[in-house]
Amino acid sequence: MIKPYTIILGATGSIGESALDVLRQYKKIRVAGLVNYSNKELLNISKEFNCKNCLMRAESDITLNCFISKIVDEYGSENLTALNAISGFNGLEASIILAKYGIETLLANKETIVAGGKVFLDYAKKQKCKIVPVDSEHSAIYSLKKAHKNIKNVIITASGGPFRDKTKGFDNIKVEDAIRHPNWKMGEKISIDSATLANKVLECIEAKYLFGLKNESIKVVIHPQSIVHSLVELKNGSIYAEISTPDMRLAISKAYGLLKEAFIKRLDFSSLNLDFYTPVAEQLKFLKLKDAALTNSRNSIVFNASNEICVDAFRKKTIKFTQIQKIVEKCLFDADKIYNNTKISSFDEIYFCDEVVRKWTTNLINHS
Ligand code: NDP
Ligand code: MG
Repeated sequence: MIKPYTIILGATGSIGESALDVLRQYKKIRVAGLVNYSNKELLNISKEFNCKNCLMRAESDITLNCFISKIVDEYGSENLTALNAISGFNGLEASIILAKYGIETLLANKETIVAGGKVFLDYAKKQKCKIVPVDSEHSAIYSLKKAHKNIKNVIITASGGPFRDKTKGFDNIKVEDAIRHPNWKMGEKISIDSATLANKVLECIEAKYLFGLKNESIKVVIHPQSIVHSLVELKNGSIYAEISTPDMRLAISKAYGLLKEAFIKRLDFSSLNLDFYTPVAEQLKFLKLKDAALTNSRNSIVFNASNEICVDAFRKKTIKFTQIQKIVEKCLFDADKIYNNTKISSFDEIYFCDEVVRKWTTNLINHS
């Protein structure tokens, strides 16, 4: 069912921008709330969409909980969807608040699932809060899972980012090179993760929890054109895929339940060229961390937190591009020393584990 009102969290980001574009074209969903961190562009967006509930978190004393509670009082949670397009681990807090009020959540913030894992999904279920994936690969698998039974494997496609054909010189990669993604215009953090392939590790974890998959049934393949969004392989060997031009407005509009309108350019089959291959050696190093990161919920948190700190350090030129992988690997290796509880069972444990990993990683960076 298409809900009449929506809250957009992370409205000034890349996903937020695509979502607003969908809503510009589909006028029947009204914007009931807008949230971001500090970008003043939010005020122009609020004017354009005639939305009076606006929260710029860096500038306001109002808590996100109070802000959402007020919107729920005004519109009713049954009439609302929220798009969580906040970047990074900070997005988990927002997802927990949305679940608390039972607001259907269109989830772009993959860190909610990576770090929140089963604890978050169980909580959302208890609160009767529907979670709809927006990450393009998961949006594809979500649709394919509805259409097909007897799934044996899921195959997540990776564009490979700007360095998919690079064989040397990884040490000298600059931030501006790493964020120059060939297919997508995205926020800086996810662009760097696409360049290292950390993004695919995060997406394997996301798929494991969202779809209840066994670790060994989650595969990754490089597909430079980003036209095949992901595939499912059935027990009988047949394979189904979702394919379209690469445009996040498809996943976003699908999540809003808008299935009768096209918000993207149609695919031209007359010039279609699809390639699939294994990552180059340097990217393979990061992808190999997938098995360790998927081992248990503690390791997923370790991978995410350590990677966030390393990417931040790379952006500040404190570490080299190749050190991101090395430090994250070391952190996963040290996981038992950092936090020996492998079965995370509460939000408090998630936050505590995240915090100690961040400190541990910072320490590793300072001594590298
Ligand atoms: P961006 O960096 O472009 O945007 C992030 C948005 O979140 C901005 O609006 C920012 O506000 C806001 N924000 C950051 N911190 C906070 C906070 N503490 N409280 C409230 N708002 C905050 O990121 P993307 O749009 O690229 O990505 C968003 C999420 O979606 C990430 O989790 C990413 O992994 C995921 N994703 C993105 C895809 C893409 O194509 N971009 C594809 C699939 C998933 P401000 O502008 O004020 O800083
Ligand atoms: Mg993705």
